[in-house]
Amino acid sequence: MAWAKGITRITYVPDLISTPARVNRRTGEMQLSLKHMRAMPKEHRLFVMLHEKAHVELQTTDEVKADAQAFKEYADLGYSLNASVKALTKVLSDKNPEHFWRMYAQLQRAKAYDYSHYGNTKIYQK
Ligand SMILES: [Zn+2]
Repeated sequence: MAWAKGITRITYVPDLISTPARVNRRTGEMQLSLKHMRAMPKEHRLFVMLHEKAHVELQTTDEVKADAQAFKEYADLGYSLNASVKALTKVLSDKNPEHFWRMYAQLQRAKAYDYSHYGNTKIYQK
């Protein structure tokens, strides 16, 4: 059977412990951690789900690529750019170099989007 091209099913489990969500790229099934989701604002939940969806649609294990795709969809829907950065900083650890890079990259995406779509020039001033 061919691998999934998108999310086919969403299930909630009580607690995924180390992550708010995960996805099976073969079947397209996304699992959400009820414990984590309950504690998150709507924007953070949305970003997490778009991130998992990107893993399936792009068929990638690359976290930065999944973040980039998720960010584009999220931002194009008009949601808060600030919340897109917090969606990562609340979940990831700045002690982990890969996590730190993901948070940094998200901040740069948010700034670039704010500048190009909303004409916010202040973010590039000192
Ligand atoms: Zn991921």
